[in-house]
Amino acid sequence: MVIQEVSPFVDKVETDNLGNVIAVKKGKDTKRVMLAAHMDEIGFIVSHIDDNGFVRFHPLGGFDPKTLTAQRVVIHGKKDLTGVMGSKPIHVMTPEERKKEAKLSDFFIDLGLPKEEVEEWIEVGNPITRERELIKMGHCVNGKSLDNRISVYILIEVLKQLKDTRLPYDLYAVFTVQEEVGIRGAQVATQHIQPDFGFAIDTTIAYDVPGSQAHEQVTQLGKGAGIKIMDSSAIADYRMVRFMKATAKKYTLDWQPELLPAGGTDTANVQRMSKQGTIAGAVSLPTRHIHQVIESVHTDDIASAIKLLSHCLEDIASFDWNF
Ligand SMILES: [Zn+2]
Repeated sequence: MVIQEVSPFVDKVETDNLGNVIAVKKGKDTKRVMLAAHMDEIGFIVSHIDDNGFVRFHPLGGFDPKTLTAQRVVIHGKKDLTGVMGSKPIHVMTPEERKKEAKLSDFFIDLGLPKEEVEEWIEVGNPITRERELIKMGHCVNGKSLDNRISVYILIEVLKQLKDTRLPYDLYAVFTVQEEVGIRGAQVATQHIQPDFGFAIDTTIAYDVPGSQAHEQVTQLGKGAGIKIMDSSAIADYRMVRFMKATAKKYTLDWQPELLPAGGTDTANVQRMSKQGTIAGAVSLPTRHIHQVIESVHTDDIASAIKLLSHCLEDIASFDWNF
């Protein structure tokens, strides 16, 4: 899917053994710029099918258990089967149980089928994703897995816009795998590419909602693309932060600083998996209701992220290496 989308805009598209998709666009000089947007989404894997056909699962990525309540999921076996996340109804909970927070282990998947029929299609090890369609909502797009589908979209759009531009340096646009389980795809891709410069593209928290205080918000929806200062996995190279801010200013783009107290991104492995280290930063998309099936991203932020990245790539030859 991504391969077909990007092929018209680049010189070649490769894949590696982990499943990373690497789109390469030759520049004027042989210095290398890597962009990384992860393609994977948080999900689950089938761990057990019980005698009544109920499916137990193991999470792939960080879940808040309460977000599983009343959700539909799809198990990708020999064919896709829709199921629901079941748990104990409140009516039969003891008073103590009602007070406790939900745990992942409280949930099971009900496919509406007996064991024999479940096992015709499903086996231990099959992946499971959540089910929710994408909609336009106000000035936002809303749906599941905008972390990180929105960045995959942005990276494809950047390649489209730069199709006829001869960039200063070689560009490696990587659609990475296994970010949500430990930034694994970006590690392998960075070791292979050995970039001089790197940009990750990912979602971040926009906790600009009722009950939040100004210092807790991380970012605000609709106030522009986030320029990463740090997250729990990386401190962005401050020369890169300076370059990105100056580029936003030069082209009068809306932007906001982003400091994410918990949660990592591909930025970390782009930065430190090359032999000499990569001058790395990231564009972050303010996202409300993150890691739920109702993630929201503002269309103005999407537009400013596309412009910021495109201009950073066009102007990268003017990068100031001085500390
Ligand atoms: Zn992400």
